Amino acid sequence: MKPLFDVERHELAAQLVPSYRATQIFKSVYQRWTGTFEEMTDLPKQARSELAAAWNLQAPRIHRRFDSTDGTRRYLVPLDDAELAETVFIPEVHRSTICISSQVGCALACTFCLTGKLGLKRHLTAGEIVGQVVAAQRDNFSLSDTDSRNSFNIVLMGMGEPLHNYDNVMKAIRILHDPEGLNMSMGRITLSTAGMLPALERLAAEPAIPNLAISLTGATNEKRNVLMPINRKYPIEQLLDAVRRFPIKHRQRVTFEYVLLKDVTDSPEDARALIRLLKGIPAKVNLIPLNEAEELEYSRPSDEAVNRFLDLLVEHNVSAFVRKNRGNDISAACGQLMKKWA
Ligand code: SAH
Repeated sequence: MKPLFDVERHELAAQLVPSYRATQIFKSVYQRWTGTFEEMTDLPKQARSELAAAWNLQAPRIHRRFDSTDGTRRYLVPLDDAELAETVFIPEVHRSTICISSQVGCALACTFCLTGKLGLKRHLTAGEIVGQVVAAQRDNFSLSDTDSRNSFNIVLMGMGEPLHNYDNVMKAIRILHDPEGLNMSMGRITLSTAGMLPALERLAAEPAIPNLAISLTGATNEKRNVLMPINRKYPIEQLLDAVRRFPIKHRQRVTFEYVLLKDVTDSPEDARALIRLLKGIPAKVNLIPLNEAEELEYSRPSDEAVNRFLDLLVEHNVSAFVRKNRGNDISAACGQLMKKWA
């Protein structure tokens, strides 16, 4: 059976007669959370049984859920080949966030990231990416709660480099964006990249573009080459030039994630280099004090060092804030996603 979460509405429509059945099905699945075709009483009986034989519309099972004391939830979502996708739900009073993975593992090998230690296992399909959102949404909201059940942001900041899995990621974004489906506006989706340049240029030319986040961390090529090996291929100047050319809507900003590593990226010198780099870019800096792990050779700077760094940026009119550390006790925090069952 074909996975329904893997198709765009127009693809489904092309396979159905009459084609508007695709819209009926999208509404049922994404808006009413209908779990079987049998329940779609707006479809004729014959059509329902034919569809049931061809399409799988089951939301992914949750293999394991880890609950943090701060309310963050980390999910292991099983895939058909026994690999696992990792998804994180971060509750917020106003608007929660669902953080999804685009790959199992990651090829980029950033030296401060645990996922980078895994290497790339494989790309996720569009259906597996959409399925993570569906699973996390249904586990955290109830269908009857019409006010809040669609009120979340999606960030592609889980495992993997989204632009390395370009076609599947963009397809998933289009499915999530579909007005007859989950209807997520592009302003509520953020794609984070370590800076895969040709794919970033491709993204810039898309008709609908999500918010952009760039993982920077090193503010000079010398440092970034070591921390994020992808920088050897696409150095900082080229990356920032591509960001300067990127279509940014009025009042919108590009987020720059900058991991603070003690004695490596946290000095006033580093802050000044970062300020120079971002000149002329509508930027918002997200400082992430390192989430430590045994496997990593770096440590987290003191709060004083973090605040000193933040103050320097703010003094130079760079919009910056320190990302709250959520879900640390369940290995759900930034850079900590890697298979772990214990
Ligand atoms: N590959 C994409 C998507 C992953 S986003 C990207 O790099 O943007 C995950 C974010 O967590 C990145 O900004 C990364 O810099 C950050 N990160 C990785 N390891 C971390 C760690 N140990 N502590 C804090 N942040 C980390």
